Amino acid sequence: MSDGYMVEPDISFVRKLQSLGGESIKKCFQCATCSVICPLSPDERPFPRKEMVWAQWGLRDKLRGDVDIWLCHQCTDCSSYCPRGAKPGDVLAAIRNYTFIRNAFPRFLGEALSQPRFLPVLFAIPLVLFLLLLAVTGHWNIPPGEVVFSKFFPIKFVDSIFITLTVLVAIAFGMGVSRFLTELHEYALREKLTGRENIVPSEFVSCLISMIPEILKHSRFKECGVSKDRYLAHILVLFGFLGLFIVTGVVFLGLYLLGVETPYHLLNPIKIFANVAAISLFVGIILVLINRLAAKNNGTSNPSYHDWLLIAVILGLVTTGILSELTRLAQIAALAYPTYLVHLVFVFFLIGYLPYSKLAHLVYRTLALAYARYIERETKQA
Ligand code: SF4
Ligand code: SF4
Repeated sequence: MSDGYMVEPDISFVRKLQSLGGESIKKCFQCATCSVICPLSPDERPFPRKEMVWAQWGLRDKLRGDVDIWLCHQCTDCSSYCPRGAKPGDVLAAIRNYTFIRNAFPRFLGEALSQPRFLPVLFAIPLVLFLLLLAVTGHWNIPPGEVVFSKFFPIKFVDSIFITLTVLVAIAFGMGVSRFLTELHEYALREKLTGRENIVPSEFVSCLISMIPEILKHSRFKECGVSKDRYLAHILVLFGFLGLFIVTGVVFLGLYLLGVETPYHLLNPIKIFANVAAISLFVGIILVLINRLAAKNNGTSNPSYHDWLLIAVILGLVTTGILSELTRLAQIAALAYPTYLVHLVFVFFLIGYLPYSKLAHLVYRTLALAYARYIERETKQA
């Protein structure tokens, strides 16, 4: 620990955390039960009690760059045993939400994604963009004949939009995670968790690569006691997204390198793989929803706006994707084309706002876990 610290409570920070899902923060009376119960907390400088104390006092600077908040996988074991109902699992999640909002580039998008009043605007942006695309390409009317989505939205226009979007998102995300890594390292130096002045890129990358099997296996989720069901839900969502990502890449290369047009036949292996991935995502996100509702009902967690928004967007994305395919196969043009339009809006929402939504956790957590390994901040299980 550092030698001394000037306590400067920040009430606005406490309120911010409460608005991001940490409503129960003030109930903590610092008994440390949570740190004892947590299956992932290290013996040395355990969490989450110290984070609860800092958060209660509004000690923004103590929490800025604290890698431990990312070691937590929100299993809610601690919240189940907390004698005061302070829900430390939710408070740590709120601190994580605050972290990616603060590191967001541009910052206003981070704030916009955390406030329901901006939701209509955030959805209107892609909707207007795609309606403009329809107007510019002369596709206001439902195309006659067989339902083929590229007749409605010329595929090269759609790809241009999503390639541009992906590049912009990658730049914005890069800025955000660069700030984040700087914060993690500054914190580790301040708290004497590392003696290295700078992060050595080659060593950090090797820690990052070593994390991949653990992330794919979701091994830390298996440590959860109360919320064991989360493991299956998260792994289905993860593999659903990975599968669809692979399919998108293959279809893209097939189109631009080999000239293979979509749609693929239902029995094409790529199509079969895509449908399995979509079903995995659909089942996974339904299970996530069920788990969240159960946690809310039994009082172990009160999911934040970020949680609900991500669930709603993934559900919207996968449902409209499946319905687009089914209505296309049934040749119901009046339903297929509008559903596909809504599906594109959800795809844009998910990709375009990735650095500012709860899905950003995937990247932030991966980097934080790699950094924890880099400074040898190991858990009990490691
Ligand atoms: S969050 Fe609950 S279990 Fe943890 S220190 Fe506070 S009162 Fe105790
Ligand atoms: S939610 Fe789970 S992982 Fe996170 S601090 Fe509580 S017990 Fe530990």
